Amino acid sequence: PKIPHFDYTPPPYTGPSTSDILKKREEYLTCVSPLYSNPLNLVEGKMQYLFDEKGRRYLDAYGGIATVSCGHCHPDVVEAIVSQTKRLQHSTVLYLNHAIVDFAEALASKLPGDLKVVFFTNSGTEANELALMISRLYTGCHDIISIRNGYHGNATATMGATAQYFHKFNVVQIGVHHALNPDQYRGTFGSDGVEYAKDVQDIIDYGTCGRVAGFIGEAIQGVGGVIELAPGYLPAVYSSIRKAGGLCIADEVQAGFGRTGSNFWGFEAHGVVPDIVTMAKGIGNGVPIGAVVTTPEIAKVLTQRYYFNTFGGNPACTAAGLAVLRVIEKEQLQQNALVVGSYLKERLNTLKEKYEMIGDVRGRGLMLGVELVTDRQLKTPAKAEILQIVDQMKEMGVLIGKGGFYGNVLRIIPPLCFTKEDADFLVDVMDYTISMM
Ligand code: PMP
Repeated sequence: PKIPHFDYTPPPYTGPSTSDILKKREEYLTCVSPLYSNPLNLVEGKMQYLFDEKGRRYLDAYGGIATVSCGHCHPDVVEAIVSQTKRLQHSTVLYLNHAIVDFAEALASKLPGDLKVVFFTNSGTEANELALMISRLYTGCHDIISIRNGYHGNATATMGATAQYFHKFNVVQIGVHHALNPDQYRGTFGSDGVEYAKDVQDIIDYGTCGRVAGFIGEAIQGVGGVIELAPGYLPAVYSSIRKAGGLCIADEVQAGFGRTGSNFWGFEAHGVVPDIVTMAKGIGNGVPIGAVVTTPEIAKVLTQRYYFNTFGGNPACTAAGLAVLRVIEKEQLQQNALVVGSYLKERLNTLKEKYEMIGDVRGRGLMLGVELVTDRQLKTPAKAEILQIVDQMKEMGVLIGKGGFYGNVLRIIPPLCFTKEDADFLVDVMDYTISMM
């Protein structure tokens, strides 16, 4: 594979050794099982590239799990954080500060309809916890419907809504219902979104008193394995939920902020307008910030109460958020996600014709998934093989993610400055790796 040209060489690394860091991590950190058999010690990042302690360059197709939207250490974002931090590092929403209101105003301008009141949080989990709480407060109901394969966070309410995880962590919640996944590859009804949506109506009819607090869903499930909801699903579900008095929450933590290329928000491709939109990850390019945006009418349930989040809307993070929005516009990153993402998807589809192991290629813009199977007819998940592929691609200089209910989906969610040359390199490395299996 032809390694793309990139004009940067990091200075020699002089920090602690990889084995020292590893030893400390094992002793002092509870950590998730590492992605690679050989640990990766990252010391620097620049745009779509990361560097290890030996100065080796990696193409980052995982993007800090869809977080680094503009590119690692993008100079405009770094400058915004540094200059804000030098002036005022922390201020709560109890006081006035321009960084907070400027970003809130800019966010509101990116959303349709009456969605314009912003509550800042520090993560996607917090944003979704708040959205669920708002729905319950506003409607006076408790029942929430989510999709079985979705991911909404790791605190009590959000993990309760995350069917693929909740039982593993013993956070079963009363009044949370998990609806059939409108998965066009594995689902019973193929691409007929309206058929899957009937399950939501059934839940309302048979599992609740007929009134619900709300529905939460991602337009493209990220952790769940880059699954695009079947067309027609969201409009039908929104209609059922609204008839039952509930609010519709769009979880845009991963699919929002231009990542899908064709639209700024994932829900826009489905022709719906949510009552609440949640976001995090890409909005801060790596600093911890999330947000909930809703209508002035719905927002009253919080403004009437003393609702508070100490760090939410921290000026250093909101300054970063505003810089991210400006960079996305200035560098036309949404358009780039569309152009490079479409090209990459086309090349991945060509690879699918070559290898039986690739069961499905899907996603939009720079949110793409490659589902690996050991048997195309039976769609048997290639669970062991994917670990080898992710490992081998890393050895060849490409970092790629994995996900899906069976853990057999390669996830491509790079910084939105990814180039066609990067796409070629990624596909060539994947091609070589799969050919060696
Ligand atoms: N919603 C979605 C769609 C996500 O992908 C994630 C994170 N993977 C979350 C919510 C939770 O965000 P966080 O990890 O920032 O709490």
